[in-house]
Amino acid sequence: RIAYVNGRYRELRNASVNVQDRGYQFADGVYEVCEVRGGRLVDYPRHMARLQRSLRELRISEPMPLPALAIVMHEVVWRNRVTYGLVYLQVTRGVARRDHAFPPHPVKPSVVVTARALNYEKNQQTAANGIKVVTVPENRWPRVDIKSVSLLPNVLAKQEAREKGAYEAWYVGSDGFVTEGASSNAWIVTTDGRVVTRSVDHGILAGITRAVLMEVMDALQIRLEERPFTPAEAYEAAEAFVTSASQIVMPVVAIDGRTVGNGQPGGIARRLREEFHRFSAFS
Ligand code: PMP
Repeated sequence: RIAYVNGRYRELRNASVNVQDRGYQFADGVYEVCEVRGGRLVDYPRHMARLQRSLRELRISEPMPLPALAIVMHEVVWRNRVTYGLVYLQVTRGVARRDHAFPPHPVKPSVVVTARALNYEKNQQTAANGIKVVTVPENRWPRVDIKSVSLLPNVLAKQEAREKGAYEAWYVGSDGFVTEGASSNAWIVTTDGRVVTRSVDHGILAGITRAVLMEVMDALQIRLEERPFTPAEAYEAAEAFVTSASQIVMPVVAIDGRTVGNGQPGGIARRLREEFHRFSAFS
């Protein structure tokens, strides 16, 4: 497997960054994950727009012109022969003597790009079975709208989920409402067929899959309600699902050990999963 690291394509096992990289020392960086289908990047322009926003919010300069970055990402996908899988891009503030404040002189941001194949059949099987979710208290910083590599709370939440036999953790704020998953956006479907997800104004990452899925729902005339929901409402919902670039639409069949709907993936979630790629852009 091949990784791109600061201008070079290297064997992944030998690919490394400087120990003084601020990504390593402070988690001072951002990332993006794109799905790869048919060897092409799914909704790449939207991911790049979000990357630019994350960089701007953290005042990290753009490491290279976006067209060059596109070439690098396609090259990594191609060199790894990924037809179905993921491409990962990370940009950090760069290498500098350890000091919390920004380096006094401009440094070049560090760029890492990796890609890996996913098992399509296995993912389809997971989607056919549905996944389990547990709720955990929201303990992240308020700027989760920035796709930062500071993911320690997400790591711990995901681990807690795994230890409880679940696949994803849903954060619940002190107001009692679900914000989002540790690595996904959270959705439910009411018993009268309305799809509910939190709006992007507060407390969540503006998921690319979420945004595209809203266009899918619009085209299919599926009713959408952008509002927060509680775990109690989710337990009683007809369906639940999560979205992310790696899962697309993943049905949820249990929340905190309570069965959602009839314990099978819901019809709306299944339909949205099937239709999704008709509405996504391929680069
Ligand atoms: N929220 C969080 C916290 C995430 O990590 C992710 C996945 N990157 C998402 C939502 C979903 O975003 P996207 O659809 O762009 O992958």
